[in-house]
Amino acid sequence: MMYDELENPHTATVLIKQRAIEYGADLVGIAPMSRFEGAPKQMDPRYIMPAAKSCIAVAFRVLRGSLRGIEEGTFFSNYSAMGYGGITYVFMPTAVVNLCKYIEDHGYEAFPMGHQSDWRAIDNEGVLRRGFSRPVSPDKPAPDIMVHLRIAAYLCGLGEIGWSKMLITPEFGPAVRVGLVFTELELEYDDIYSGPQLCNRCMACVRACPGKCISADKSVKVTVAGHDLEWGEIDTEACDLAFRGAEEGPGNYLPGKNNYRPNAISPFYQVPPKVYTAGKAVCGSGGCTRACLASLEARNMLTRKMRQKFRRNKPWSVDWSDYDANATNTGGTVGINTKLDTD
Ligand code: SF4
Ligand code: SF4
Repeated sequence: MMYDELENPHTATVLIKQRAIEYGADLVGIAPMSRFEGAPKQMDPRYIMPAAKSCIAVAFRVLRGSLRGIEEGTFFSNYSAMGYGGITYVFMPTAVVNLCKYIEDHGYEAFPMGHQSDWRAIDNEGVLRRGFSRPVSPDKPAPDIMVHLRIAAYLCGLGEIGWSKMLITPEFGPAVRVGLVFTELELEYDDIYSGPQLCNRCMACVRACPGKCISADKSVKVTVAGHDLEWGEIDTEACDLAFRGAEEGPGNYLPGKNNYRPNAISPFYQVPPKVYTAGKAVCGSGGCTRACLASLEARNMLTRKMRQKFRRNKPWSVDWSDYDANATNTGGTVGINTKLDTD
């Protein structure tokens, strides 16, 4: 075992960042654990590794090409496979596990964290799930803790939290997914992002969200590491339905249920199967990612320039006015009418 390579915090920081990029990360930032001071007990990583000194956040870009087929309305699975499920459950975990191996090879404990939220003790609203788990002692939170990935990435300097509650990076806007490493290794720390303001409250995310999940006027305010953050209230239940392309109404869009039909951003008679255990992101994050990307690019805010702009067509919507739940799933119905959204 080598001990010298990571002993100097400056050298260690350079090497760790190099490794993270080699493992596939697009962005890397590092925060001291003290920035989690004041975090809710159920979301405070210091209860997981009390001796941790550093939080390393890595961001993986969602390829703009993976969103192209949804922008065109012709190829939906690529985002769920390569942009959403693939990054979340394959590419990012591989990178953070390998980063932890590198750190542990030098004698410092490290653990990787991704979207492993199925065992978390709190629900989407941050409330303890009834009958789920109990603390092992009164001074500890109930298992499992879930660290807020985007807030951690903010603390590591990777970008802003936008009105949509998405992490907005100057390089890729909101089209990133985040993984974390916590370690006992001491490193040099990045400042919290203080560059040009990325979210201008344009509310494009609000207007384009198919489930009207992001409030335009009600907000959540928190203070982290001395910085005040504010984002629009998010209706996570509405998002859970809308992002799969469902809306309430007679129909069999969701398996085993008879009260959901396809919404205007789903071309599918029934929700397609999951990809990489998670993806069904039929909406392609149309509000919180794609509309925001278009807004940022229109304002020339992104530092990673592309040769062509992201938004090339008017957003489309599917005309389901002739939807007949009884005629679905025949495998032979064609002729879905589409119209341009004139909003
Ligand atoms: S779409 Fe506009 S308001 Fe929404 S997060 Fe992006 S920049 Fe902010
Ligand atoms: S994932 Fe889709 S439904 Fe959910 S907030 Fe984003 S745009 Fe709205």
